[in-house]
Amino acid sequence: MDLSNELFARALKLIPGGVNSPVRAFRSVGGSPFFVKSAHGATLVTADDRELIDFVCTWGPAIHGHNPPVIKAAIAAALEEGTSFGTPNPYEVRMAELIHALVPSIKKVRMCNSGTEATMSAIRLARGFTRRDKIIKFAGCYHGHSDSLLVKAGSGALTHGNPDSAGIPASFARETVVLPYNDPGAIDRAFAANPGAIAAVIVEPYPANVGLILPLSGYLAHLRKACSANGALLIFDEVMTGFRLARGGVQEIEGIVPDLTALGKIIGGGLPVGAFGGRAEVMDQLAPVGPVYQAGTLSGNPLAMAAGIAALELLDRNNPYPALDALGRKVRDALRAACKSKGLAAQVPQTGSMFSIFFTDREVHNYEDALTGDAKMFGRFFHGCLERGVYLPPSAYETAFISTAHEGAAIDRACEVMDSVIRGL
Ligand SMILES: *Cc1c(COP(=O)(O)O)cnc(C)c1O
Repeated sequence: MDLSNELFARALKLIPGGVNSPVRAFRSVGGSPFFVKSAHGATLVTADDRELIDFVCTWGPAIHGHNPPVIKAAIAAALEEGTSFGTPNPYEVRMAELIHALVPSIKKVRMCNSGTEATMSAIRLARGFTRRDKIIKFAGCYHGHSDSLLVKAGSGALTHGNPDSAGIPASFARETVVLPYNDPGAIDRAFAANPGAIAAVIVEPYPANVGLILPLSGYLAHLRKACSANGALLIFDEVMTGFRLARGGVQEIEGIVPDLTALGKIIGGGLPVGAFGGRAEVMDQLAPVGPVYQAGTLSGNPLAMAAGIAALELLDRNNPYPALDALGRKVRDALRAACKSKGLAAQVPQTGSMFSIFFTDREVHNYEDALTGDAKMFGRFFHGCLERGVYLPPSAYETAFISTAHEGAAIDRACEVMDSVIRGL
């Protein structure tokens, strides 16, 4: 790790904490981060030439593995034509058509540059449309780092012990009502306590930023009903789950039609992108047709659009979801079997190509449950895996991702490693 350590020492002098996004700093698991110089398929190559089987997948986007030839070729072709025009470009139209075709609740869509922008803009739009100020979010759900959403926001914030970030006026936070996930009574009480005041309910339909949490049967349908009954918009934050579990996202799997959806990660094919969309009459409140302002110098950037279009077309063509789910179940079964034989209490939620592990005997249905997980034990598990060449998310409160490139030797090797590490805990 000599080169990584040297780079980190230089980074620490000029970049706060040495990183450009906090969870990369390894604070939650201890030690210092490694630097990566290249990535292909399921593999990261560190600055020190170590090869690691990667279950972070650049925090979700790399569903086709790293640097897949189809996406590389699409970016290279777009690059020949120019990197940014400051005018509408043909890729934006193709992207909008693709998103609409795959996620039918999205009648109109606006591209932006990150998931944070997508959720922030969706909230502003919901407030403008309903002419109401308050929003409801759920403890442990992360929706990016805009002011009104950085309240009880899960992983990154959690790891650093300040779930309510400094620098956010208390008056902003007061407009955000935070509720426990998976509790239908809490939603009913919040609407009753704030009559005519709630603009929107924003939710990660499968929360995946405190580890992975799945909804209890009927819960998302209850949210849908409660929003409709109270004139509030339902916003699905599918920045992580969009195109990850099904072409149409969790909304397709669960048969729920949200009013607005936020997207990001996979739709950029590894380049920076976000998008939000939904009901046409809501989206038409956006400038230049409506009064809600939203803009971006590089929004709809041709390179990012080309990469994202290639990523989505590949998903549409190959339907990798059944195969990805088989890989997910393989890892889940291996983890559960290893914990059982070791006599270690653990929960291993998994759906499709997403999984996490909580070292607790309590079933995990919300943020409070997730916090009962033994983070020190996770740290030992994480470092044990890393030493043997398997890279998991460096926090007990993150979700691991599998790509199509993991099929075969990588998944077998990773299961073997995780099994032996757990037996040695
Ligand atoms: C990653 C993520 C975001 C933020 O996206 P950025 O591109 O990091 O700004 C928002 N919501 C969810 C659910 C996410 O997982």
